[in-house]
Amino acid sequence: MKFSKYALSPRVLAALPALDFEKPTKVQEKVIPFFLQYFNLIVEAPTGTGKTAAYGLPLISQLNLQKKNTQALIMAPSRELAIQVIDALRSYYEGDDLKVAGVYGGVSMAESEKAVRSGAQIVVAVPGRLKDIMSTIKFDFFWKDIKYFIMDEGDKLLEGGFQKDYEAFRMHLRKRLQICFFSATISEEAEAQMKELIKPVKVIRLHPKEMLRSIKFHKVAVKDGKLTAYLAGLIQSQKIKTALVFCGRREEVQTITGFLRNCGYMAESYYGSLEQQERANILTRFKEGHIRFLVATDLAARGLDILDLPNVINLAIPKKYDYYLHRVGRTGRAGRKGNVYNFISSSVDDVYIKKYHKEIDLGAYYIDFEPANQQNTKVAEDEKWAKCHLSRGKKDKIRKGDIVGFLIAQTGIEADHIGTITIYDTYSIVDIPTQAYYVLSKSKEALQIKGKSLKIRKYSLDEQENRARAVKKLLKDRKKSRKLED
Ligand code: AMP
Repeated sequence: MKFSKYALSPRVLAALPALDFEKPTKVQEKVIPFFLQYFNLIVEAPTGTGKTAAYGLPLISQLNLQKKNTQALIMAPSRELAIQVIDALRSYYEGDDLKVAGVYGGVSMAESEKAVRSGAQIVVAVPGRLKDIMSTIKFDFFWKDIKYFIMDEGDKLLEGGFQKDYEAFRMHLRKRLQICFFSATISEEAEAQMKELIKPVKVIRLHPKEMLRSIKFHKVAVKDGKLTAYLAGLIQSQKIKTALVFCGRREEVQTITGFLRNCGYMAESYYGSLEQQERANILTRFKEGHIRFLVATDLAARGLDILDLPNVINLAIPKKYDYYLHRVGRTGRAGRKGNVYNFISSSVDDVYIKKYHKEIDLGAYYIDFEPANQQNTKVAEDEKWAKCHLSRGKKDKIRKGDIVGFLIAQTGIEADHIGTITIYDTYSIVDIPTQAYYVLSKSKEALQIKGKSLKIRKYSLDEQENRARAVKKLLKDRKKSRKLED
């Protein structure tokens, strides 16, 4: 199946190659044809399945972009999700006549008001802020041309008491309207609730197995309550470089972050009571690779779109199936490979995992490794430092200061965290923390030093040994020839 099979607008189709969207995901295959035929929909689709594009691509294709009025209203449960949806929608179109605006907290009311008045064809709003604005200004002009009303993470919206707001918004909207609810999981109760709000409606469900197929599920038997020893043992034995680590409570999050930091890993805590700005900042640093282990409560399970997140570690097993689905859905996104490690500390944990996996119809198997002991929890010294080969040297007029400046600017490390720098004719060797190397190797932009392109790679042990041998030989040869001259 190809995207070109659907009646999507040429400018939407033109945007897809740059996004690496080669073919529709399962949920897109199921949703796009019905969306294009103006069906009201209730769709079971967790984040990570391509849900935003499932409605975003057909929605944008149907808008009249010559008109500068709001034609679609999308509700999102949190500011984070709203921002993510806005960014995604903008990326689905090649051209500058599509405007997407956001209405959410954390910015001034004036700014939200401006968004409502902006004439953006799509407005993405968090219910609370939209309600606040409604109480301060009258804006019939805003509602009158809206033809699409979409609830993203509808289950989460309803949990937050959205039904009343929904009814208030619905009153302002025109009668003939396409309404869609996207929900991570739809319980019978939620389905009944949604069906009361929209009639007639088509329900589209994705079996979780279809979404989680590319994930390997593991179990870790934790003995004697030695959670941290097993965590360190897991990271070392499975060579885990980065992971999202879930704990049950905030105190536990802080303890585990402290433990990982003590071991020498770059770890950070993420939970609900952090300032929003701080949360956004932490997420950016995690996405960029500056933080390698993000230790979180269930708050992080929703709305976190990190494409290449390879590992999820559940130190505590959630007591609700949909929490489990949200957590594990952070990895293996859009069909990429992922691993989930479930720590089984009691027989109750095992009962939950068995129950969840019966539902998703995929197995979870015990893995075996030694827990770390006090001595070997620390990150090995040679893992902390990376010896790097830089493709520029004396011939390129590179000096130590240039390399230091480059590393600070690119990785944010401090000057005294940079080890020995040796500059040779055509290349340089530098010791930097593995973390900094990780950031450089993940850089999406081409690296440059003094205006020249630069390639960085690890300087392997073999290369180091070969060079040491060559230098030894050179010195020996020199000594020999000197003796001969005498
Ligand atoms: P979502 O479920 O909307 O949170 O999307 C999860 C991730 O999948 C996002 O980073 C999208 O960019 C990506 N994605 C969505 N559709 C496709 C597709 N057809 N092919 C590849 N990646 C996709």
